Amino acid sequence: MTTKTTNINKHLPQRTCIACRVTREKRELVRLVRVSDGGVEVDENGKKVGRGAYLCREQNCWQEGLKGGRLEHALRTNLGHENREQLAGYGKSLSGGLDGG
Ligand SMILES: [Zn+2]
Repeated sequence: MTTKTTNINKHLPQRTCIACRVTREKRELVRLVRVSDGGVEVDENGKKVGRGAYLCREQNCWQEGLKGGRLEHALRTNLGHENREQLAGYGKSLSGGLDGG
């Protein structure tokens, strides 16, 4: 009997951040969802219906995701100015390990 298992895979769902391409557990990422009017909302509970994309809970990833148009590309939509500001604001509210400013 040498089949002692040392690694127990819990089989947690994993998703990839669209900005840094790091794969993490789903719960460590923030889900963004495209709503019916083409706008994008933060989906805190991961329960909204629609095309979704994931970003780390880090300011850097939100900046990258919004700046490079990666979020829009991933969700196949165009962000309006207000929508973009709204998401950028959410990103700034995250603790990103950056110096305050
Ligand atoms: Zn990331």
